[in-house]
Amino acid sequence: MTAAGAATVPPGRLFVISGPSGVGKTVLCARLIERFAPNMVFSISVTTRPPRGGEIPGREYWFWSIEAFERAIAAGELAEWAQVHGHYYGTPKAFLMEHRAAGRHVLLNIDVQGGMKIRAAFPDAVLIFLAPPSFVVLEERLRRRNIDAEETVRRRLANARVEMSFQKEYTHTVINDTLEEAARELEDLIRMHIQSGS
Ligand code: 5GP
Repeated sequence: MTAAGAATVPPGRLFVISGPSGVGKTVLCARLIERFAPNMVFSISVTTRPPRGGEIPGREYWFWSIEAFERAIAAGELAEWAQVHGHYYGTPKAFLMEHRAAGRHVLLNIDVQGGMKIRAAFPDAVLIFLAPPSFVVLEERLRRRNIDAEETVRRRLANARVEMSFQKEYTHTVINDTLEEAARELEDLIRMHIQSGS
C-alpha cells in the first residue's frame, strides 16, 4: 500500500509489433487486444496521413495537422515519432505512461524506426517482428488489399525491403503464413513474457 492507501501494481509491459505494410499487423493487433483485454490496450498513434475510408478518429489513429504534430514533437509529448511513407506518425507519451502505471500492458503497432526508439527509451519493451512468408507473398497481399494507389503500393514495397533489414534487431520474429497460426504464436509469446516478468 502506498501512503495514499492505493495498492501498488507492477507496471504494464510494452509490446511492439513491427513489420512491412501488408503483413497483417492491424488484424493481428486487433486479435491480441481482444484476447488480452482488459489487461492490454492498443496504443492509438497520431498521424498526419488522411483517414482511409472507414477509419474513425480515436479508434485507428488520431488524425492531426502537420502543425499540431510538430508542436507535440517540440513539447516532448511523443514517446517516439517517425516519418513513414511521407507522413508523420507518433506515439503519445501520456497514454503509455498512464496505462503502464495502472498495470496494463500496451501494444504498439509502429514502424521499425519507432521500434528502435522505444527499445532505447524502454529497455524492457518486447519487440516482435512480423514477417511475410516471402517478398512475393507480401507483394500479392499489398495488391489484393487494393486500398492504395499504384504509386503508394510501390513506395510501400520499397519501404518493406528496408523494414525487413531491421528484423535482426527484434526480440522475436513471427512469420505470418496463416493468420490463425501467427495469432496463436503471438499470444504464446506475449503470455510467456507476462508470466515470466522478463
Ligand atoms: P498505415 O498508414 O498503413 O496505417 O501505417 C503505416 C506504417 O506506420 C505502419 O508500418 C505502422 O506500423 C506505422 N505506424 C503507425 N503508427 C505509428 C507510430 O506511432 N509511430 C511509428 N514510428 N510508426 C507508426
